[in-house]
Amino acid sequence: MKKILIILLFFLTSCKNIDKTYDDFYNQIKKYGSFDKDLIYQYYESYQKTNNLINSLNLVNHPDFYNTKSSTYLYNDIMLVNKNHPLPSNFIPNDLIKVKDINYIKRENEEMLINNEVLEHLTALFIDAKTNNIDLCLFSAYRSFEKQASLWHEDYSFDNMYKAVPGYSEHQTGLAVDISTSYDGLTSSKTIAFDFLEKNAYKYGFILRYPKNKEQITGYNYEPWHFRYVGDISRLIYENNLTLEEYIYNYVEIK
Ligand SMILES: [Zn+2]
Repeated sequence: MKKILIILLFFLTSCKNIDKTYDDFYNQIKKYGSFDKDLIYQYYESYQKTNNLINSLNLVNHPDFYNTKSSTYLYNDIMLVNKNHPLPSNFIPNDLIKVKDINYIKRENEEMLINNEVLEHLTALFIDAKTNNIDLCLFSAYRSFEKQASLWHEDYSFDNMYKAVPGYSEHQTGLAVDISTSYDGLTSSKTIAFDFLEKNAYKYGFILRYPKNKEQITGYNYEPWHFRYVGDISRLIYENNLTLEEYIYNYVEIK
């Protein structure tokens, strides 16, 4: 009898715990703007698997986020430009400056432009590489809509998984860079420069934007030369092996 009482007591306490967990969950999730009361049980079901409130909201509200076209390209302060998130054709970042004081290769009669904050961090990254005897070189930074359009028309046969349609290129943000060494160039083969960048770029706010095995999510083939400046969130992205798309889906409430 005593045993039964203990079991019953245990059962009642655990029920109470579940209730408390649910109440805590409800009190927190209802504060979010995208919360829909009618979907509460779906959110809770997701939450029990993910233990992540924002991700639970996004999973239920936007189940097909990775494959859905959207006119949004700003998620909080984070710019997301990919095959589903184009920039308006007249979009020009307002903090572009000329690249200077680092190695770069540019086409004739063309200026190499980049976001000024990105250049600052890129310069620090290049200096770090140099102390490791790696002479990094910048091959591409900002590309205007028009520039992207001319690249697009230059070679129709070029693989769509490498090349972006005008408006859909991350280079139009001024936050993306193609980096390698002048002797290796932009190549998928394993280079010392890439080895260094893969391990260190995040310390300067950059992420490898198109990693291997994430092609379905990014929409791009592996590009070991293409890095994207994201600022402070780079460490979390790097340590959790995320893409920018996955970061947003997990940590930014999609409205
Ligand atoms: Zn690129």
